Amino acid sequence: MTSLKAPLTVKCPTCKCDVVWRPESLFKPFCSDRCRLIDLGEWIMEDKRIPGETLEIDINETDDFFYQ
Ligand SMILES: [Zn+2]
Repeated sequence: MTSLKAPLTVKCPTCKCDVVWRPESLFKPFCSDRCRLIDLGEWIMEDKRIPGETLEIDINETDDFFYQ
């Protein structure tokens, strides 16, 4: 278990920089609160792109298109 002496680092999912995995790193696996929020924002964006969610809007738009 000699590898425990080396600091464990992970890649920040947002900016891909090295983040040292320490108890005091509040935003791990992110390097900062900013990167954490950016990632959360992307998740929310992806959530909105779920086909089931946008289907209702699409139906209304195509409905309108067909009746033109
Ligand atoms: Zn980052």
